[in-house]
Amino acid sequence: MKTLLLVLTIIISETIMSQNYDFEQNLYQSYDRYKESSLTHRRFKHADIIPLIDKLKHKNGFTVKVVGKSVEGRELKLITIGKGKTKIFMWSQMHGDEPTATAALFDIFNFINDPANKEFCSALFDRVTLYFLPMVNPDGAERFKRRNFYDIDLNRDASRLQCPEAIILKTVFDSLKADFGFNLHDQSHRYSVGNSFRTATISFLAPAYNYEKDFNDVRGNAVKLIGNMFNSLSQFIPGHIAKYSDEYEPRAFGDNFQKWGTSTILIESGGWKDDPEKQFIRKINFIALLSAFKSIAEESYVNTSSDIYESIPFNDKYIFDVILRNLTVKDGKKQIKIDIGINLDEFEGPNEKKIFYRSQVDDLGDLSTFFAYKDYDFEGYTIERASVYEKKVYALNKLEKIDFYDLYSKGYSTILVKELPDEKFTRLPINLALKNRIDTTINIGESANFVIKKDGKIKFIVINGFLHKVEKERKFSGNGLIIK
Ligand SMILES: [Zn+2]
Repeated sequence: MKTLLLVLTIIISETIMSQNYDFEQNLYQSYDRYKESSLTHRRFKHADIIPLIDKLKHKNGFTVKVVGKSVEGRELKLITIGKGKTKIFMWSQMHGDEPTATAALFDIFNFINDPANKEFCSALFDRVTLYFLPMVNPDGAERFKRRNFYDIDLNRDASRLQCPEAIILKTVFDSLKADFGFNLHDQSHRYSVGNSFRTATISFLAPAYNYEKDFNDVRGNAVKLIGNMFNSLSQFIPGHIAKYSDEYEPRAFGDNFQKWGTSTILIESGGWKDDPEKQFIRKINFIALLSAFKSIAEESYVNTSSDIYESIPFNDKYIFDVILRNLTVKDGKKQIKIDIGINLDEFEGPNEKKIFYRSQVDDLGDLSTFFAYKDYDFEGYTIERASVYEKKVYALNKLEKIDFYDLYSKGYSTILVKELPDEKFTRLPINLALKNRIDTTINIGESANFVIKKDGKIKFIVINGFLHKVEKERKFSGNGLIIK
């Protein structure tokens, strides 16, 4: 009788988990209901997530345990839920400036706590137990930087284990001996899916466990599960899924965890157009992980062909932030046609919620095999280096009244000021300098400050990589450089 009951329970839960609606579509449609509303951008800190974790202590089914402290004493907490025999361990943000998946984990906690998902979750937790270790590198997150307090890359400390955060991760791993592991990171938004004109929004990897990149059952299961996740996500981000470099790295956690018997999957959150804070990619992480839990619980990955994994293109680098195409440069009587590839590197302003960018010309010439988040065709236009307005030296308290249209239409990207503010950037759409040190040619490695002309008249100006149409009555907002 007991056996019969057990069989019945399994049959019932099977149907609960594989109801006929599209699970992932449903997650996609209902996501806003679960999105943790206190996390709204990428620069949240340890202090922002601790209250959210502590709230879970009072929720049915969750246990929260302090498993150690970072160099600066920030607590790392392991969150557990489920009573199934298949163990799934996931850890996020061992690189402090890679928070996208951390936010998604809190969305998943909200999903689990929502009464609407009770049946699904109870069936899930009969089969699997979930272990979450969010924000492995809180000291790095505090400064929004990759490495930990000692400036050590924790993902190169899996073997030597010199940092407390690495020791904690290894100790938790050893205590669990999980069946599946999810290693959650962010990658550059400038990776493309192979040489396609598409951003690598999510990149997967089943890390190699030796230099020969052999496959065994442990790695094979990770490969199959990635096949399932690839299929699940392709309906939302078709063509935007890539594979991370599969070179064996003996100092990295993912590679070692694979070697030590946990089927390990690396998920890298990359780039998506018009999503600089990666909130859409966070939603994709939410779907990817829940979809993976379901595949594991149902063992539906078992029959998935490894061909899917094999067919995923590797990350490549065919993306710029900005490309200005088909511009004519005049050199005396000679004319040449160029494309200009510009990248924008991100910096935190004095107020951490305001982000600034520093532009750099990274390539010149024929960039027809590349693409950009902002891609402009300037066929028929000429380009010159913008110049410095030297007839006046401005007092800092007079800057707000500047007529930018007037300066732009005369080709000026930079003004002189009496003293430089003690910052690197200005919210004004113009660069500030003490004296004219700006070159007049267009060179790789320099910031992007240009005028773009048609029939001898200035139509556009580029200030620190940002393109402005030069029109009267236009409101210009900006991200100027303070040139020291
Ligand atoms: Zn990383």
